[in-house]
Amino acid sequence: MAEDEEGYRDSLATINADGGRKWIYPKKPKGAFFTKRKIVSYVLLVLLFGTPHFTLNGLPLLLFNIVERKFIIFGKIFWPQDFFIFAVAMITGVIFITLFTIVFGRIFCGWVCPQTIFMEMVFRRIEYLIEGDYKQQQKLNKAPWDANKIFKKTLKQGIFFGVSFLIANTFLAYIIGAEQLWEIQMVAPSEHLEGLISITIFSLVFYGVFAFMREQVCTTICPYGRLQGVLLDSKSIIVGYDYVRGEGRAKFRKNEDRKEVGKGDCIDCNQCVDVCPTGIDIRNGTQLECVNCTACIDACNFMMEKTGLEPDLIRLDSEEGIKNSVPFAWSKRTVFYSVVLVLLMVFLSGLIITRKDFDATITRANGTIQKSVGVNGMSNIYDVTLINKTTKDFVVTLKLLEEKGRIDVVKNEIVLKEQSEAKGKFVITMDKGDIKHGKNKITIGIYGDGELIEKRTTVFMGPLL
Ligand code: SF4
Ligand code: SF4
Repeated sequence: MAEDEEGYRDSLATINADGGRKWIYPKKPKGAFFTKRKIVSYVLLVLLFGTPHFTLNGLPLLLFNIVERKFIIFGKIFWPQDFFIFAVAMITGVIFITLFTIVFGRIFCGWVCPQTIFMEMVFRRIEYLIEGDYKQQQKLNKAPWDANKIFKKTLKQGIFFGVSFLIANTFLAYIIGAEQLWEIQMVAPSEHLEGLISITIFSLVFYGVFAFMREQVCTTICPYGRLQGVLLDSKSIIVGYDYVRGEGRAKFRKNEDRKEVGKGDCIDCNQCVDVCPTGIDIRNGTQLECVNCTACIDACNFMMEKTGLEPDLIRLDSEEGIKNSVPFAWSKRTVFYSVVLVLLMVFLSGLIITRKDFDATITRANGTIQKSVGVNGMSNIYDVTLINKTTKDFVVTLKLLEEKGRIDVVKNEIVLKEQSEAKGKFVITMDKGDIKHGKNKITIGIYGDGELIEKRTTVFMGPLL
């Protein structure tokens, strides 16, 4: 490609020659991919807004209370003690993102990321509804501030802030829980100044992102977007322009045999650029700004259909697929990565499902030794730490499971409050005839309200001689 044709490499599609922001007015998308995207987006939006209001086992379905370090996933509470699961989840997350991107490119950005879904499926659609398609929007922005413009702009920005407020409330519900949020909303703002300030800040941030920052979040701020350069390779699936078929781009002429006159299939209509929410020209090859929204595929397919040319000049394919004009096929590598992903997900799900509601640690009390009691008895002192991850209080009793002997809890009975930790001390007394010299393995049953909830094995020290 001639040097002057590669000018796009030296500049950003959203920045003017003088360094100012170039506002993007993408054309209203339509087509098969867009219809599918709408369905995916609406399902995800319902899930996002609905999830904080659903409970499981009396607990929110999802809660990420960073302040109290309490996390609830599918009705199960996770504490900092569940660090192992968090660590595995983090590793799985990183590997998932890496492998998913290597195989499927940036499809997450265009189809699942909340930023894109809110921007393209909520805010942009409100904008189209109030201000019309891209041409009308450009015209309105150039027009003087008459009553019509003031009305449309005020209405749009007002709705934008209202939606941002709704999003802020939803995100806060994921942090403090829907019930607590409802309580805050039901009392005078002066009684919950902290909550009010948080909601206002959240709302302003969302409003700023969707009304002004827009595609800049994806093209310059999002770290995931920046990683594409190192994660993608020639086999990754991308939204790609088939330059082999398309180049020799030239305007369409009716009844002309394009092959015969040496023209490629690209009719240079610029529709793929017009619909692009990040303002790029996909014909210049894969670019970091492409969020794989597939709008250009729809736009190009529409033109191909209208002109009677083959569809999929722009399509989801790999660089290799485009270069060699072979359709995408699952390679061994793709299958392998996908299997690894599934296995990781299964492993993590297994860890979450099989995670216990209680945790108990029993150790011999520091600085204590075994003691003779009466003529035949021997005693050891123990520390017990219990963690209750459920929403129920328990009175805890301890019993020796296989051995003969007696357990006496020091001071009061151990009461294990819901979602809390309790510590206690107890003494085990055994008959010397029932134990051997030195270390004896014993099993202690931990009962909550009379029901066995945990078993722990520890050591009882018998006489040394
Ligand atoms: S190039 Fe196509 S897929 Fe990429 S962001 Fe633009 S319209 Fe979306
Ligand atoms: S929409 Fe298709 S035909 Fe039109 S300019 Fe883009 S690639 Fe070429």
